[in-house]
Amino acid sequence: MKNIFIILAAGTSKRFKGPKPKQFCEYKGKMLFEHSVDKAQKSKLFSKIILVINKKHRKFLKKYKNKNIIIITGGNTRSNSSLIALSNIKKYNPKNVFIHDAARPDFSNNLLNKLNTALNKHKAVVPYINSFDSVKMKNSNKIENIKREKVLFTQTPQCFNYNLILKILNKNKIINTDECEAAIRSNYKIKFILGEINNIKITTTIPKYFKIFYGIGYDIHRLAIGRNFYLGGIKIKSKLGTVGHSDGDPVLHSLIDSILGACRMKDIGEMFPNNEIKFKNIRSTELIKKVIYEIKKSNFYINNIDINIITETPKITNYRKKIIRKISKLCDVSENKINVKGKTTEKLGIIGKELAICSEVLTSVIKYD
Ligand code: ZN
Repeated sequence: MKNIFIILAAGTSKRFKGPKPKQFCEYKGKMLFEHSVDKAQKSKLFSKIILVINKKHRKFLKKYKNKNIIIITGGNTRSNSSLIALSNIKKYNPKNVFIHDAARPDFSNNLLNKLNTALNKHKAVVPYINSFDSVKMKNSNKIENIKREKVLFTQTPQCFNYNLILKILNKNKIINTDECEAAIRSNYKIKFILGEINNIKITTTIPKYFKIFYGIGYDIHRLAIGRNFYLGGIKIKSKLGTVGHSDGDPVLHSLIDSILGACRMKDIGEMFPNNEIKFKNIRSTELIKKVIYEIKKSNFYINNIDINIITETPKITNYRKKIIRKISKLCDVSENKINVKGKTTEKLGIIGKELAICSEVLTSVIKYD
């Protein structure tokens, strides 16, 4: 796998009205550029992901942690940034590159796969959509009609054989609004494939028409010797384990209930009845994946998660980082939006006697209309 995904995020957002450059503004529970990073990562199509930023913007990434991406400093124009990124990745000897605008967070995995397949036959592949509006063109003082079927709006990611695009951009060191423009100028034949209507570029404002909802969740499981012990999706080494119909993970169960509560989608028992044989011994990680899929279908995105784990054993501090990382992946939310707290009951009651473990969760979700 020698494909590299380059995300251009070095722009200063001149047209954007917001508190900081748009690529670092919050959108659907993440910074705008994170959507592209996460989608590229999830697709498993790329050996490297490169994020190109402006030197002045490093401060916006202070809390952002992702070991799997390489962050480099771009140039003063989009064309420069893209050329800098391409020169920078020469050492990895890439076959193809996908060059993408951070301002387009809403492309699908399906589009990535389509582009990747087209690269088997072509050296330059660009997604486009047609215009829905009627189109005219100003030619000197005359306005001429243009058939809208003849107009292509080019989108990103734009995909090229690495050596080809490097050569093209080195030859066209003028300002190009995208790589496709440079390739056309070089008379290179591009394969255009149908893009996506949702893959729009955010230019002036981040959509603000969303609401925030909250939900709580609670769960308790008995502890017994010789059982598996899953907590927040990870396996705990212990002589004790939880008793339950599924894998008995109280953190994921209370998390699921808090998410469903916030989205007003009833509860875990309704979605996964515990008298159904197919859910017996099922990993809760599978249940939560289904929940996230369902809420996204209704345009809900997780905003933040706060978790209390009430138990004598294990010591939560030893597992906090791992649990946060796991839940971040499962719920498609940044690690810095998740908090985990460990509590004991001072040896009181069933929890204090290590007969049970309990978890409670508060989740907030964003709903776009
Ligand atoms: Zn449970």
